[in-house]
Amino acid sequence: MKRVGAHVSIAGGVENAPLQASSIGAKAFAMFTKNQRQWRAPKLTTSSIEAFHKNCSDGGFKAEHILPHDSYLINLGSPDSVKLQNAREAFIDEMQRVESLGLQLLNFHPGSHLNGVNEDECLQLIAESINMALNATTSVTAVIENTAGQGTNLGYRFEQLAALVDQVEDKTRVGVCLDTCHLFASGYDLQTTEAIGSTFKEFDRILGLGYLRGMHLNDALRPLGSRLDRHASIGKGTIGMEAFSFIMEHPACEEIPLILETPDSELWSSEINLLYSLGH
Ligand SMILES: [Zn+2]
Ligand SMILES: [Zn+2]
Repeated sequence: MKRVGAHVSIAGGVENAPLQASSIGAKAFAMFTKNQRQWRAPKLTTSSIEAFHKNCSDGGFKAEHILPHDSYLINLGSPDSVKLQNAREAFIDEMQRVESLGLQLLNFHPGSHLNGVNEDECLQLIAESINMALNATTSVTAVIENTAGQGTNLGYRFEQLAALVDQVEDKTRVGVCLDTCHLFASGYDLQTTEAIGSTFKEFDRILGLGYLRGMHLNDALRPLGSRLDRHASIGKGTIGMEAFSFIMEHPACEEIPLILETPDSELWSSEINLLYSLGH
Protein backbone atom coordinates (compact mmCIF):
# COMPACT_ATOMS: atom_id res chain seq x y z
CA MET A 1 0.00 0.00 0.00
CA LYS A 2 1.12 3.55 -0.65
CA ARG A 3 1.26 5.72 2.47
CA VAL A 4 0.54 9.34 1.58
CA GLY A 5 0.35 12.04 4.25
CA ALA A 6 1.57 15.51 5.15
CA HIS A 7 3.86 17.31 7.56
CA VAL A 8 1.30 18.13 10.24
CA SER A 9 1.41 20.51 13.20
CA ILE A 10 2.19 19.56 16.81
CA ALA A 11 0.41 22.61 18.23
CA GLY A 12 -0.96 21.60 21.63
CA GLY A 13 1.39 18.58 21.85
CA VAL A 14 2.88 15.80 19.69
CA GLU A 15 -0.22 13.69 20.42
CA ASN A 16 -2.24 16.00 18.15
CA ALA A 17 -0.19 15.12 15.03
CA PRO A 18 -1.86 11.71 14.37
CA LEU A 19 -5.30 13.29 14.97
CA GLN A 20 -4.60 15.97 12.38
CA ALA A 21 -3.22 13.37 9.95
CA SER A 22 -6.39 11.25 10.32
CA SER A 23 -8.59 14.29 9.71
CA ILE A 24 -7.09 14.82 6.24
CA GLY A 25 -7.26 11.17 5.21
CA ALA A 26 -3.52 10.58 5.57
CA LYS A 27 -1.97 7.09 5.87
CA ALA A 28 1.40 8.52 6.99
CA PHE A 29 2.63 11.78 8.49
CA ALA A 30 5.65 13.90 9.30
CA MET A 31 6.09 16.18 12.31
CA PHE A 32 8.61 18.00 14.44
CA THR A 33 9.04 16.54 17.93
CA LYS A 34 9.49 20.03 19.42
CA ASN A 35 9.34 23.68 18.35
CA GLN A 36 11.74 23.63 15.38
CA ARG A 37 12.85 27.22 15.96
CA GLN A 38 14.32 26.43 19.39
CA TRP A 39 17.48 24.55 20.31
CA ARG A 40 16.18 23.11 23.56
CA ALA A 41 12.84 21.74 24.64
CA PRO A 42 11.62 19.99 27.80
CA LYS A 43 11.48 16.20 27.60
CA LEU A 44 8.21 14.74 26.33
CA THR A 45 5.93 13.81 29.22
CA THR A 46 4.71 10.27 29.80
CA SER A 47 1.11 11.37 29.30
CA SER A 48 1.94 13.04 25.99
CA ILE A 49 3.80 9.91 24.80
CA GLU A 50 0.92 7.64 25.86
CA ALA A 51 -1.64 9.84 24.11
CA PHE A 52 0.57 9.86 21.00
CA HIS A 53 0.64 6.02 20.97
CA LYS A 54 -3.12 5.76 21.43
CA ASN A 55 -3.86 8.28 18.68
CA CYS A 56 -1.40 6.57 16.30
CA SER A 57 -2.95 3.19 16.96
CA ASP A 58 -6.51 4.58 16.53
CA GLY A 59 -5.45 6.18 13.23
CA GLY A 60 -3.68 3.04 11.94
CA PHE A 61 -0.24 4.69 11.85
CA LYS A 62 2.72 2.40 12.47
CA ALA A 63 6.20 3.66 13.43
CA GLU A 64 7.53 3.08 9.90
CA HIS A 65 4.85 5.40 8.46
CA ILE A 66 5.85 8.34 10.67
CA LEU A 67 8.74 10.54 9.58
CA PRO A 68 9.84 13.02 12.27
CA HIS A 69 11.91 15.96 10.99
CA ASP A 70 14.67 17.66 13.00
CA SER A 71 15.04 21.40 13.64
CA TYR A 72 16.18 23.55 10.73
CA LEU A 73 18.70 25.22 13.09
CA ILE A 74 20.93 22.13 13.10
CA ASN A 75 23.96 22.16 10.74
CA LEU A 76 25.78 18.84 11.16
CA GLY A 77 28.55 20.00 8.82
CA SER A 78 29.27 23.39 10.40
CA PRO A 79 32.88 24.58 9.91
CA ASP A 80 32.66 26.37 13.31
CA SER A 81 33.67 23.91 16.03
CA VAL A 82 31.46 25.44 18.74
CA LYS A 83 28.40 25.53 16.47
CA LEU A 84 29.17 22.01 15.30
CA GLN A 85 29.26 20.78 18.88
CA ASN A 86 25.91 22.47 19.62
CA ALA A 87 24.39 21.00 16.48
CA ARG A 88 25.59 17.50 17.36
CA GLU A 89 24.17 17.72 20.88
CA ALA A 90 20.85 19.02 19.57
CA PHE A 91 20.72 16.25 16.94
CA ILE A 92 21.37 13.54 19.54
CA ASP A 93 18.57 15.06 21.62
CA GLU A 94 16.26 14.88 18.57
CA MET A 95 17.20 11.22 17.97
CA GLN A 96 16.48 10.45 21.65
CA ARG A 97 13.09 12.21 21.44
CA VAL A 98 12.24 10.02 18.44
CA GLU A 99 13.22 6.92 20.43
CA SER A 100 11.19 8.05 23.43
CA LEU A 101 8.14 8.20 21.13
CA GLY A 102 8.82 4.61 20.00
CA LEU A 103 9.51 5.84 16.45
CA GLN A 104 12.17 4.61 14.00
CA LEU A 105 13.11 7.42 11.62
CA LEU A 106 14.56 10.93 11.84
CA ASN A 107 14.64 13.00 8.66
CA PHE A 108 17.22 15.80 8.42
CA HIS A 109 18.99 18.03 5.92
CA PRO A 110 22.67 17.03 5.79
CA GLY A 111 24.35 20.43 6.35
CA SER A 112 26.05 23.45 4.83
CA HIS A 113 29.76 24.18 4.38
CA LEU A 114 29.21 27.99 4.63
CA ASN A 115 32.42 28.40 2.58
CA GLY A 116 34.40 27.53 5.72
CA VAL A 117 35.49 24.04 4.62
CA ASN A 118 35.43 22.29 1.24
CA GLU A 119 32.66 19.91 0.18
CA ASP A 120 34.52 16.69 1.02
CA GLU A 121 35.52 18.01 4.45
CA CYS A 122 31.94 19.08 5.13
CA LEU A 123 30.60 15.65 4.10
CA GLN A 124 33.13 14.06 6.46
CA LEU A 125 31.93 16.27 9.37
CA ILE A 126 28.31 15.34 8.61
CA ALA A 127 29.12 11.61 8.48
CA GLU A 128 30.98 11.89 11.82
CA SER A 129 27.93 13.67 13.28
CA ILE A 130 25.66 10.83 12.09
CA ASN A 131 28.02 8.20 13.55
CA MET A 132 28.01 9.99 16.93
CA ALA A 133 24.21 10.17 16.96
CA LEU A 134 23.85 6.48 16.04
CA ASN A 135 26.31 5.57 18.82
CA ALA A 136 24.30 7.62 21.34
CA THR A 137 21.02 5.86 20.46
CA THR A 138 19.96 2.27 19.86
CA SER A 139 17.32 1.98 17.18
CA VAL A 140 16.56 5.17 15.22
CA THR A 141 17.55 5.35 11.54
CA ALA A 142 19.13 8.61 10.33
CA VAL A 143 17.23 9.55 7.16
CA ILE A 144 19.23 12.01 5.04
CA GLU A 145 17.18 14.30 2.82
CA ASN A 146 18.40 15.39 -0.61
CA THR A 147 18.51 19.18 -0.92
CA ALA A 148 17.81 21.76 -3.62
CA GLY A 149 21.47 22.85 -3.47
CA GLN A 150 20.48 26.32 -2.35
CA GLY A 151 23.34 28.41 -0.92
CA THR A 152 26.08 26.12 0.44
CA ASN A 153 23.77 23.21 1.36
CA LEU A 154 25.19 19.80 0.48
CA GLY A 155 23.24 16.68 -0.43
CA TYR A 156 22.01 17.93 -3.80
CA ARG A 157 23.79 15.18 -5.78
CA PHE A 158 23.29 11.42 -5.29
CA GLU A 159 27.10 11.14 -5.17
CA GLN A 160 27.13 13.38 -2.05
CA LEU A 161 24.43 11.27 -0.36
CA ALA A 162 26.42 8.14 -1.27
CA ALA A 163 29.59 9.67 0.22
CA LEU A 164 27.70 10.14 3.50
CA VAL A 165 26.23 6.64 3.53
CA ASP A 166 29.69 5.19 2.71
CA GLN A 167 31.16 6.87 5.80
CA VAL A 168 28.37 5.81 8.16
CA GLU A 169 29.51 2.81 10.19
CA ASP A 170 26.10 1.19 10.79
CA LYS A 171 24.54 0.91 7.32
CA THR A 172 21.39 -0.66 8.81
CA ARG A 173 20.53 2.67 10.50
CA VAL A 174 21.00 5.11 7.64
CA GLY A 175 18.59 5.88 4.83
CA VAL A 176 17.52 8.57 2.38
CA CYS A 177 14.40 10.70 1.94
CA LEU A 178 14.00 12.05 -1.60
CA ASP A 179 12.16 15.36 -1.92
CA THR A 180 10.75 15.79 -5.45
CA CYS A 181 10.98 19.61 -5.36
CA HIS A 182 14.61 19.43 -4.20
CA LEU A 183 15.45 16.81 -6.86
CA PHE A 184 13.99 19.00 -9.59
CA ALA A 185 15.60 22.20 -8.27
CA SER A 186 18.99 20.49 -8.09
CA GLY A 187 18.79 19.46 -11.74
CA TYR A 188 17.23 15.94 -11.77
CA ASP A 189 14.51 16.00 -14.42
CA LEU A 190 11.15 14.52 -13.35
CA GLN A 191 8.83 16.04 -15.92
CA THR A 192 8.11 12.86 -17.91
CA THR A 193 7.79 9.19 -16.98
CA GLU A 194 11.06 8.56 -18.86
CA ALA A 195 12.84 11.40 -17.03
CA ILE A 196 11.81 10.32 -13.52
CA GLY A 197 12.51 6.72 -14.54
CA SER A 198 16.13 7.61 -15.33
CA THR A 199 16.41 9.65 -12.12
CA PHE A 200 15.27 6.60 -10.09
CA LYS A 201 17.70 4.37 -12.05
CA GLU A 202 20.52 6.79 -11.30
CA PHE A 203 19.61 6.75 -7.58
CA ASP A 204 19.55 2.94 -7.65
CA ARG A 205 22.95 2.80 -9.39
CA ILE A 206 24.67 5.29 -7.05
CA LEU A 207 22.96 4.54 -3.71
CA GLY A 208 20.56 1.63 -4.12
CA LEU A 209 16.77 1.88 -3.85
CA GLY A 210 16.96 -0.16 -0.64
CA TYR A 211 18.12 3.03 1.11
CA LEU A 212 14.91 4.88 0.19
CA ARG A 213 13.04 5.24 3.51
CA GLY A 214 10.66 8.09 2.67
CA MET A 215 9.77 10.75 0.14
CA HIS A 216 8.60 14.34 0.28
CA LEU A 217 6.04 14.93 -2.47
CA ASN A 218 6.18 18.59 -3.46
CA ASP A 219 5.70 20.26 -6.80
CA ALA A 220 8.23 23.02 -7.58
CA LEU A 221 7.60 26.69 -8.16
CA ARG A 222 10.83 27.25 -10.12
CA PRO A 223 12.20 25.56 -13.27
CA LEU A 224 14.54 22.54 -13.50
CA GLY A 225 17.97 23.25 -11.99
CA SER A 226 17.00 26.55 -10.28
CA ARG A 227 18.80 25.51 -7.04
CA LEU A 228 15.96 27.31 -5.22
CA ASP A 229 13.89 25.52 -2.57
CA ARG A 230 10.35 26.74 -3.38
CA HIS A 231 7.56 24.20 -2.95
CA ALA A 232 4.26 24.28 -4.90
CA SER A 233 1.02 22.34 -4.41
CA ILE A 234 0.75 19.07 -6.38
CA GLY A 235 -0.17 19.80 -10.00
CA LYS A 236 0.34 23.54 -9.57
CA GLY A 237 4.06 23.68 -10.24
CA THR A 238 6.70 22.99 -12.85
CA ILE A 239 7.12 19.22 -12.24
CA GLY A 240 3.69 18.16 -13.48
CA MET A 241 1.69 15.01 -12.77
CA GLU A 242 3.68 12.27 -14.55
CA ALA A 243 6.28 12.17 -11.79
CA PHE A 244 3.64 11.70 -9.09
CA SER A 245 1.91 8.92 -11.10
CA PHE A 246 5.30 7.19 -11.42
CA ILE A 247 5.89 7.39 -7.65
CA MET A 248 2.36 6.18 -6.82
CA GLU A 249 2.99 3.09 -8.98
CA HIS A 250 6.62 2.36 -8.05
CA PRO A 251 7.27 -0.70 -5.85
CA ALA A 252 10.15 1.07 -4.01
CA CYS A 253 7.57 3.56 -2.68
CA GLU A 254 5.38 0.91 -1.01
CA GLU A 255 4.89 1.25 2.77
CA ILE A 256 7.24 4.21 3.16
CA PRO A 257 6.01 7.66 4.24
CA LEU A 258 5.17 9.83 1.18
CA ILE A 259 4.82 13.27 2.74
CA LEU A 260 3.36 16.50 1.38
CA GLU A 261 5.19 19.66 2.42
CA THR A 262 3.12 21.77 0.06
CA PRO A 263 2.32 25.37 0.98
CA ASP A 264 -1.49 25.32 1.32
CA SER A 265 -2.58 22.98 4.13
CA GLU A 266 -6.23 23.56 3.12
CA LEU A 267 -5.46 21.55 -0.02
CA TRP A 268 -3.80 18.57 1.69
CA SER A 269 -6.85 16.31 1.80
CA SER A 270 -7.61 16.94 -1.89
CA GLU A 271 -3.92 16.47 -2.80
CA ILE A 272 -3.94 13.15 -0.92
CA ASN A 273 -7.07 12.06 -2.83
CA LEU A 274 -5.52 13.19 -6.10
CA LEU A 275 -2.34 11.19 -5.42
CA TYR A 276 -4.32 8.05 -4.50
CA SER A 277 -6.32 8.40 -7.73
CA LEU A 278 -3.03 8.08 -9.67
CA GLY A 279 -1.97 4.74 -8.16
CA HIS A 280 -3.27 1.25 -8.82
ZN1 LIG B 1 11.49 18.09 2.17
ZN1 LIG C 1 12.20 22.18 0.63
